[in-house]
Amino acid sequence: MKIKRMKIALGGVVQGVGFRPFVYRLACSLGLKGYVLNSTKGVIIEVEGHSELLNRFYRLLLKNPPPLTAITARSVEFLKLAGFKNFKIRESREGAKKELLISPDIATCKKCLGELFSPSDRRFLYPFINCTDCGPRFTIITDLPYDRKYTTMKKFEMCEDCLAEYTDPLSRRYHAQPNACEKCGPQVRLISAKKGNLSSFSGYETIKKAAGFIEKGNIVAVKGVGGFHLMADACNQRVVLELRRKKMRPFKPFAIMSSDIEKVKEYCEVDRRTEELLLSPRRPIVLLKKRCCGRFKDIAD
Ligand SMILES: [Zn+2]
Ligand SMILES: [Zn+2]
Repeated sequence: MKIKRMKIALGGVVQGVGFRPFVYRLACSLGLKGYVLNSTKGVIIEVEGHSELLNRFYRLLLKNPPPLTAITARSVEFLKLAGFKNFKIRESREGAKKELLISPDIATCKKCLGELFSPSDRRFLYPFINCTDCGPRFTIITDLPYDRKYTTMKKFEMCEDCLAEYTDPLSRRYHAQPNACEKCGPQVRLISAKKGNLSSFSGYETIKKAAGFIEKGNIVAVKGVGGFHLMADACNQRVVLELRRKKMRPFKPFAIMSSDIEKVKEYCEVDRRTEELLLSPRRPIVLLKKRCCGRFKDIAD
C-alpha cells in the first residue's frame, strides 16, 4: 500500500456543528496523521496515511457527518508527503475572503435537556446549557471564522471544568464555542420597570419568579441571544389585548409556545409532517390550523 497526503477543503455549514471534533475522532480511529482547521471558507483537512485508509476516511467523512452539517462545496488534492506526527485541531486561519454558511441557532438537544433536569449534573437548571449539537450559533457571531473569540461569549472566561470539556476531544463540548456553566457563563436577571432588580439568589428561582409574573397576567420581555421575546399568558384575553395595544399590532397573529407536542395537539391539527417540523432541531415557528376556531381568537383568527 502506498502512503499519500490528501488535502480536503469543504464549504457550507461546517463550522459550529461539531465538525472538527468529528474529523479528529474519525482520523484518529483510522490512525491517520495530519490536521483539521476552520478557515473563512469552511474547513481544511490534511491527512497522511495508506491510500486505502485515506479513501475510507473520505467516504466516512461525507457519509456520516454531524447532524447539522450541510456540505455545499468540496475539493480534494494530493500533495507531497509532509511527515505529520499526529492528528491535530489547528488554530483557525484568517483569510481575506469570507464565504461561509453559519448554522442557525439550534434548540437544546436531548442530551443537554437530560443534564438540565438531572440534579447531580453540574449544569442542573442552568438555562444557557449547550453543546456541539445544540445552542446558539448565528446570533452570537461577531466575525468569522466561528471561534469563541469572534462570538459574544468572548468576555466569559471558561472555568476549569468548562475548559477541560472544551479541550477534551472525547467530550460532547469539545470546541463548543458557547460552552458555559453557572460558575463562568451568562446569568439570569429579572428587572421590573417600576421596582428595579428583582433577581433571586439563583437563576432558577429568578426564572420561576418571572413565570409567576406571566401567570398573574403581566407581560415579560425575555432577552435571549436573538433579541427580546415579549411573553404573556396566551389564555388570558385581557393581557393578549394589552400586548396587541402596546405592540401596535391589532391583527397579525402571535406565536404560541408550548411545553410539548401533546399540548399542541390539544389545540391544533398536527399531521406527521407538521410534527416532524415542530420537533426538528431548529424548532421553527410553524403555521397550524386551530382545532376549534373559537379558541385563541385574539392570538390568531
Ligand atoms: Zn446539546
Ligand atoms: Zn464553567
